[in-house]
Amino acid sequence: MSNLAKNYNRKKISFSKGQGSFLYTANGTKYLDFVQGIAVNSLGHAHPKLIKAMNNQSKKLWHVSNAFIIPEGELLAKKLAKKTFADYVIFQNSGTEATEAAIKIARRYFYSIGKPEKNRIICIKNSFHGRTLAAIFASGSKKMTEGFGPKIQGFDHFNFGDHKKLKKLINKKTAAIMVETIMGEGGIKEIPDWCIRELRKLCNKKKILLILDEVQCGIGRTGDFFAFEKSKVKPDIVPIAKGIGGGFPIGAVLMNKKVAKGMTAGTHGSTFGGNPLAMRIGNTVLDIISKKSFLKTIKINSTYFHSELNKTKNKFPKIIKEIRGRGFLIGMVLYKDQSNFIQALMKNKLLTIRAAENVVRILPPLNVKKNEINQALKIINKVCSEFD
Ligand SMILES: *Cc1c(COP(=O)(O)O)cnc(C)c1O
Repeated sequence: MSNLAKNYNRKKISFSKGQGSFLYTANGTKYLDFVQGIAVNSLGHAHPKLIKAMNNQSKKLWHVSNAFIIPEGELLAKKLAKKTFADYVIFQNSGTEATEAAIKIARRYFYSIGKPEKNRIICIKNSFHGRTLAAIFASGSKKMTEGFGPKIQGFDHFNFGDHKKLKKLINKKTAAIMVETIMGEGGIKEIPDWCIRELRKLCNKKKILLILDEVQCGIGRTGDFFAFEKSKVKPDIVPIAKGIGGGFPIGAVLMNKKVAKGMTAGTHGSTFGGNPLAMRIGNTVLDIISKKSFLKTIKINSTYFHSELNKTKNKFPKIIKEIRGRGFLIGMVLYKDQSNFIQALMKNKLLTIRAAENVVRILPPLNVKKNEINQALKIINKVCSEFD
């Protein structure tokens, strides 16, 4: 009997070793891992530079309190500010903490300019911003909030694409619009660039803030460092996590100068967030992923993967409905429930994971090799022909 609570529906398999794009069970069976901890192991398993960074730092200093200056965190914040819209960064340990901090920063900004009544955040219904109390009520999902009342106030919802409703929701109590640039758990649904630009214009016009949750779609996943970059929009606040730690738990929230003014000493904190060990690893991940040549390779390889998947879709039009997403954030939409399909892929030694709307989510490491993509395609085609 397992003494772990039953809050996960786990597959009956475990792994004892990982190397690059592959996972190995204790008896040596090899799996192509296109889950990568749900877009977390951005550089695959056991990347030599990450091992070296962790080993070196682990001999020097793991943790000191944020009561002191942490040079590794100063450095990572400086790099993030230099590469992005952001002026300031707060480090956390997870995605949901980052989205919570984003909500706090938005509310605190309006409080600090003498408008404390502006504290409501508008979100997409059935989006995903994490599992803390505020984050589940921000997501507006019945399934995630059921039994966890009383309801956390301050969130208004519109359905994906319902621009009329969105505009109607904005009133004098609104502080911000918070959306995922590409909805991950919600089924790999992209907000088109023109729409991101319209959101920015709308926020400017109504003098409210734009929060883009890039916890899943950011850090090179799409081939751009942030998914919103393609739209040329500058958001006010951006929570990140997953890929930035390469497997080590790191979250962060990026913000511009304007909103950072509200976050004066004592307004927010985290015991673990931004400790030297995490920051050393974060720096190493960032240095690799933010290289232009690295991002370009993601674009080239992922374009190939998408085009081959579309060929598979055309070959099996009764099974695959659509190939969604961008870069290595890929959703294969099936006509039927995807669980048997995912199980069959696993039987053929390819690991993928579900998302809403019958989506098989495919998340290779960003440094995946072309022959590994081909290996996955072969398995996907085989399983399609079995289901055809
Ligand atoms: C995963 C995710 C979160 C939550 O991250 P955790 O590290 O699980 O707390 C928040 N927002 C988005 C878009 C995510 O994909």
